[in-house]
Formats: sequence, structure tokens, C-alpha cells
Amino acid sequence: MSNIKEISIDPLTSLQAKLSQELKLEQQVPMYVVEKAQRDPSYLYHLLSSKNNPIWLRMLFNKPYEDFIADKHDIKKPKVKEIATEFSSSLLRWSMSGFKQSDHNVFLKRWNACKDCPHLIQPPANRLYHLGRRIISSNSDQRICNLCGCFAHKKCNIATESCPDSHPTLKGLTRWSEPKKIKI
Ligand code: SF4
Repeated sequence: MSNIKEISIDPLTSLQAKLSQELKLEQQVPMYVVEKAQRDPSYLYHLLSSKNNPIWLRMLFNKPYEDFIADKHDIKKPKVKEIATEFSSSLLRWSMSGFKQSDHNVFLKRWNACKDCPHLIQPPANRLYHLGRRIISSNSDQRICNLCGCFAHKKCNIATESCPDSHPTLKGLTRWSEPKKIKI
């Protein structure tokens, strides 16, 4: 029998550590918040977008998420809800990767493809995207990809992300000229 004990890392504990680090908190994020963030990518998004705002963070920790969404009308529109969910899911994938960023040359190649892409559009006037602008720097491009809902400039810089569309001429590749991935 092996005397080496296998240590299983609880994904929740792992997410708790990453969230606590990203939110720059002196104490660990409460586990009920971590559980909610894992279940609800939109809630995770709001946590990350509020990382420099202690008052807002406290409110998110204490207040039910449903009450926090003031603009339910927009969220209920199918297209907006769909892309917002995709956008939030990408943030969850990013958090689970340890917030790993793309190599600069990879970023440039991706972003050049996005700039030539017909799917790059202005974001809808939706509260989620209004909040999203708060976490991208003012000199960053604020357009989104209308297939996945992500801020394209930000998405290009996230190592775990992939372009959702097929390359117009290169079979098996995305518009970023990268192999298509199966999303988690
Ligand atoms: S991620 Fe892909 S589909 Fe979306 S804007 Fe960029 S190149 Fe176009």
C-alpha cells in the first residue's frame, strides 16, 4: 500500500483562494459567496468588477444577487441574457485558470483579427455591460463580440479564451487562426 497520501483539492477551496487574492481581501472570501460565484457566473462577474469598491463588495456579500440586478427588464431580453451569460462564463473560466493572461504576440494577433471581424459591435445599453466598462481601462476598446458577448479587447488578453467563430478560409481554425476548443 502506498504511503503517499493523495491530496484532493476542492475546486471550491481553489476558487476561494483565487477570489480572495483577486479581490485583495485580508480575509478569505466567505464560502457562501464562493458557492454562489461558482453557481452563478453573473454574480462572479459582479464580484470581480467591484474589486476596488469595498462598499459595493460588502453589499454583494450581504445582499441577495437578485435584488442587486436593478435592470431586470434588459436582462430578460433573450439575446442580452444569452450573451451576458456567455460573457460571465468566460470570466469564470478565467478565474479558474488563475487569471492567466495571453502572451503579448498572441494578444496582438487575436486583436487584429477581431478588428477586422464583422461580429465586433458596440455593447448594448445594459447594466451588466455598463458595469463591465468599469473594469476595462478607459483607453481600452469597449466593443464586444456579438457571438459570445465578451469585451473583445479584454477577451483577447485572456489565455483561456477562444474565438467562437470559424475562420472564413482556414478549415478547423477560428478567426484568431487558433484550433477550435471545446469550452468547459
Ligand atoms: S472573438 Fe472572434 S468572432 Fe468575436 S469579434 Fe473577435 S474575431 Fe470576431
